[in-house]
Amino acid sequence: MNKTKGKIIIKNIITFLILFGLIYIAYQFYQLNNFNDFIKSESRINTAEFKRDEEIKYDSTRSYKIQSNEYNDAMFFKEVNVKKNTPYKVTCMVKTNQVESKDNIEGVGAQISVSNTTEKSKTIIGTQDWQKIEMLFNSKNREKVEIGFRLGGVLGEAKGEAWFSNFTLEEGTQDENSNWDFACFIFQNTNVNINNNQISINVTQNEVSDISNTITRFEKSCSQLSLNKMTAKCDIYQIETPITELSYDDEFGYYVSPENVENQIKDILAQNSYDHIFVIVKLGSEKYQNDIKINDWIGLGSMDYYGIGFSNIRLPNDSKNYIYKYNAKINQFPEEVFLHEFLHSLERNAKEYGYERPELHDYEKYGYKNERLIGQKKWYTDYMNKNINTASNEKIGLPSEIYRLKPAKESNFEYSYKIEEFFKEPQNLLEEIQGIWKNFTRNMQTILKQENVTDM
Ligand SMILES: [Zn+2]
Repeated sequence: MNKTKGKIIIKNIITFLILFGLIYIAYQFYQLNNFNDFIKSESRINTAEFKRDEEIKYDSTRSYKIQSNEYNDAMFFKEVNVKKNTPYKVTCMVKTNQVESKDNIEGVGAQISVSNTTEKSKTIIGTQDWQKIEMLFNSKNREKVEIGFRLGGVLGEAKGEAWFSNFTLEEGTQDENSNWDFACFIFQNTNVNINNNQISINVTQNEVSDISNTITRFEKSCSQLSLNKMTAKCDIYQIETPITELSYDDEFGYYVSPENVENQIKDILAQNSYDHIFVIVKLGSEKYQNDIKINDWIGLGSMDYYGIGFSNIRLPNDSKNYIYKYNAKINQFPEEVFLHEFLHSLERNAKEYGYERPELHDYEKYGYKNERLIGQKKWYTDYMNKNINTASNEKIGLPSEIYRLKPAKESNFEYSYKIEEFFKEPQNLLEEIQGIWKNFTRNMQTILKQENVTDM
């Protein structure tokens, strides 16, 4: 054999092996780091590790792992085109290891969420094996949303490890009726510790019967005041398991957030399809007058429990108070607080669907009064029927469509349609190469955009 020729062959083989080795390493690196179409984001830059995990995975594909050794709000998300006013469901499998939320804030941990909103799935903390979680949301006025898989949350930061897998997106159908179902939870016991002061407050049977009558009046008032644009059906649940934690806000003082009572209400809500939630609480009594600081509120609204309107109704400390009792000479509109808080949810909804509407608190601005026996009943009637006169002789108020725009719920997905192209893993080498090229061009575009911004 010719010596030189032999050398060349060996050289070629070595070059080939090195090249193959490099490609193999690059491919392994790509496999470990490829998040396909997802964009990574975090509140503390370069704190989380985003990896594709070959060891801990739900099925044959590598799982998507977020690891934050320090408290952080880390997420990978994808921008998705949606149809307006349509319910959607996102699901995934999730597994966690030692996930903790900073200051033990509820609703922070491993979850699905729409970035920059309160829309989210339930939250997983601690160490838990693979389980399915889902997020329902209504697109409302949006045509694009950023769907993210997150270790953290809009309310705070978390640390630990979370693995995500098997992402799906479904489009449901909106039910078009204007019949609203309300869940009314009467919390019979409040047992909270505030500044080392153990407070125990109970609701009496008289108070339960007063509030139940008021709820019946609320059902009728919804039809009457809306001139039959909607109906209200209320189910009352008396909850014995006490409220043991409250939320605090500088403006309102203490109140009950959805996270504070999720454990007591989640099973009932999972078995039914409600459109609105009232939580009825007592936060003071003759014995505990000012122990729980309340900044002058009897109802609080505009909150949401996984997209469903959520309001607080506070029972008065003094059980002889007439606020929730009908009396022809004292109070002919005891359901006012319920209606007011429900209207706050419609007010918020109208805004999120892109409608113009006056602020619910602006009754005086349009010449309405808070009357002795019926409060702001006339204002609510005109508010609900877009019958408020403005200086320029226009009629304003809630649009009549608002009564048909209800939150996304499980029953919207009976005949749902799965959007296949959402989170499709590459199926073969060609698709992988296409994916690499797509990511590369997208990253280049982002870099170029950033440079343009710095130029300006
Ligand atoms: Zn209000």
